[in-house]
Amino acid sequence: MSRSEQFFEAAQRHIPGGVNSPVRAFRSVGGTPVFFESAAGAYVTDADGKRYIDYVGSWGPMILGHAHPEIIAAVSARVEKGLSFGAPTELETMMADRVCELVPSMELVRMTSSGTEATMSAIRLARGFTGRDKIIKFEGNYHGHVDSLMVKAGSGMLTLGEPSSPGVPAALAELTLTLPYNDADAVRETMGKLGDEVACIIVEPVAGNMNCIPPVPGFLEALREVCDQHGTVLIFDEVMTGFRVARGGAQALYGVTPDLTALGKIIGGGMPVGAFGGRRDIMQKISPLGPVYQAGTLSGNPIAMTAGLKTLELLSAPGFHEALAATTERLTQGMEAAAESAGVALSTNRAGGMFGLFFTGDGPVTDFHGATGCNQEQFKHFFHAMLERGVYLAPSAFEAGFVSGAHGDAEIDGTLAAAREAFAAVAG
Ligand code: PLP
Repeated sequence: MSRSEQFFEAAQRHIPGGVNSPVRAFRSVGGTPVFFESAAGAYVTDADGKRYIDYVGSWGPMILGHAHPEIIAAVSARVEKGLSFGAPTELETMMADRVCELVPSMELVRMTSSGTEATMSAIRLARGFTGRDKIIKFEGNYHGHVDSLMVKAGSGMLTLGEPSSPGVPAALAELTLTLPYNDADAVRETMGKLGDEVACIIVEPVAGNMNCIPPVPGFLEALREVCDQHGTVLIFDEVMTGFRVARGGAQALYGVTPDLTALGKIIGGGMPVGAFGGRRDIMQKISPLGPVYQAGTLSGNPIAMTAGLKTLELLSAPGFHEALAATTERLTQGMEAAAESAGVALSTNRAGGMFGLFFTGDGPVTDFHGATGCNQEQFKHFFHAMLERGVYLAPSAFEAGFVSGAHGDAEIDGTLAAAREAFAAVAG
């Protein structure tokens, strides 16, 4: 029995399913989750001492690679001064200034401790600002485990919300309208009927929780247009895309400006952090300036701010995102070529430093049905074949992959060599 297997057995004694976040449990790919011991650069090492090239990057935050020496040094020095005060520090101002400089649509910003808190608070704020209750989200978009956002789409143009998790009150879910991603006509039609009742439209500007699906041209622009027509708040959930697809996030990459932005992952450099912010007139409604309540014992935590500030400083180096996008392109092109030589149908998507592999001959994939229609069995087989060969991909066909600044030619070459064998195994 491997140590991961032993640890997993022990974990299940007192942790539901043995994990503290469900996708870690390998349920959708089968097998035992790999327990990690340490990580450095592009590599993670498991409890049995096996090393993997990592494309999960802690689900996005580790854009500079793991245990970056400058981040570790900054955090270590900061730890000596105390872990948390629950009172203001200068670090929070430095963070706010840096975020507003990198993402100019954010005029005021409030820190939280997770991405979920950021989207939850942004929605409460949009409702408080507009005095409206309904919200629109998109099929296959994930915004954290917020009650109002745990609503799945049924088929059809407009589904009046049906909770996708027991425990979400139907009365709340009914206020969430779910529309197909990348379908501007559906948005126009719904907003034409209900626009004046809709507090906000929240969207992942590049969908990263149904594999990786970039916006089709005109989709984000249409959201901006209908929100302007109806006084609806446009929220970009950039928890995943922020500082990843471009230095200024998806809003910089696609040139569409939201009213509010939710951030997480990279902004904490690996520590538990989120943030939301945007137009000054909207953000002024947040307590203590305004009546919309929002708070957090550990919000703006000094250790987390230190890790985040150093990460934002390092990724602001000229050329960082161009190099990251070039590495990602090499990876996805190499994957397509490897699949083709093995006779496996594969389509890929990418945006900056994120990518998706779709086992389908019907690419490019642009929506939820395209993503869920891919060959799951082939993905599972490929995932395990890559794991065996020392490449750690997300253990689900519905998660984006992440490349870091520490992934160089050696890692991409190694990954593609493993992929050639893995695709051959999939082809059988
Ligand atoms: N929004 C998006 C787009 C995400 O990908 C995630 C998490 O994966 C969240 C929100 C929730 O963030 P957290 O897990 O930090 O609560």
